[in-house]
Amino acid sequence: MSESSLSLYQLSRHDLEQQLCSWGFPPIHAARLLKYVYREGICSPREMYELPAVLRGRLEDALTADELTTCSEIQSSDGFTRKYLLGLTDGCRVETVLMHFRGRATACVSSQVGCAMGCVFCATAQMGLVRQLTAGEIVQQVVHANRVLMELGAPQLRNVVLMGMGEPLHNYDAVMKAIGILCEPAGLAIGPRHITLSTVGVIPGIIRLADERQPVNLAVSLHAATQEERAKLVPPARAWPLDELVTACRYYAEKMKRRIFFEWALIEGQNDSEEQAATLGTLLQGLPSHVNLIPLNPIANYDGLPTSNPSAKRFQAILAEHDIPSTIRQRRGIDIAAGCGQLAVETPPQQRVACLSE
Ligand code: SAH
Repeated sequence: MSESSLSLYQLSRHDLEQQLCSWGFPPIHAARLLKYVYREGICSPREMYELPAVLRGRLEDALTADELTTCSEIQSSDGFTRKYLLGLTDGCRVETVLMHFRGRATACVSSQVGCAMGCVFCATAQMGLVRQLTAGEIVQQVVHANRVLMELGAPQLRNVVLMGMGEPLHNYDAVMKAIGILCEPAGLAIGPRHITLSTVGVIPGIIRLADERQPVNLAVSLHAATQEERAKLVPPARAWPLDELVTACRYYAEKMKRRIFFEWALIEGQNDSEEQAATLGTLLQGLPSHVNLIPLNPIANYDGLPTSNPSAKRFQAILAEHDIPSTIRQRRGIDIAAGCGQLAVETPPQQRVACLSE
């Protein structure tokens, strides 16, 4: 680790302890430093009075604690959802959403600037991939959300979902490092069971999560229950076919002894028929699962519409006949373009480097 470029939010407790030792300080100071940063919102070493003065000076010279800048902020009309477009040091922007409802606060964070996956109904996909986020930039989004909660006098953040811009399993190492930092007991101390990672279905990543026994929740964006229909909505299905994806999910569920969440954006006339519900019910037989049915958030450049509430309920009833539990997700924040990537796409384009669907 080069001393001149220690980015505070990028450091795990282990990294910090190593750094302290290399300077000749006892590693115990790492926990106090993390408490200052993540619990008390004190990021300037000068103000960390419980640390020895010599160490404060050393940290002051070595650490950078760049904050994300708020480029825009909007609130849903019901006040429960706040969406932020946050600026990174190189001028790129990512979306972070804070949902705060009945004492339960969830931050939805981005894992990449843009996305290479190309799902046809997703606004982020229209940007292509601009760049990967670092672990520190993922952590900073959560810190931002938590700071808003502190200012509101609301209880501390308990849940984090990686369902913002990007494909977390396409940025595996940074995402896992960020999760480790978020779960650090001396820091934000988010429980791994309160973290949900959502993937388009990157099979090698799902296997790796299981083999490494990463204790977070897994959500898989399914959206269709046949290979042909899925490949039309979710282009990565061509690289990672549905039958192999379901096999990987069974492996994961068996190894982790936990259920998987499946996401299904309900699009009128596309994937919301009773027959499609029955096919999904059959596909998931014997796999511990919970299906989240999310009526589509309409976006620019895609003419799909959300399924009506009665049709969503019929779809749900057929899943129930197959013993598959499901929830119809309320589209909180639809009036603030809270669908993945919508805010970023509505602002001037950023340079993109790749798009898997091309
Ligand atoms: N790359 C990850 C995270 C993406 S966003 C993934 O694919 O899971 C999280 C969820 O929002 C995904 O299920 C995604 O398919 C869904 N989503 C994206 N755009 C949407 C829209 N316009 N309406 C409803 N759901 C959408």
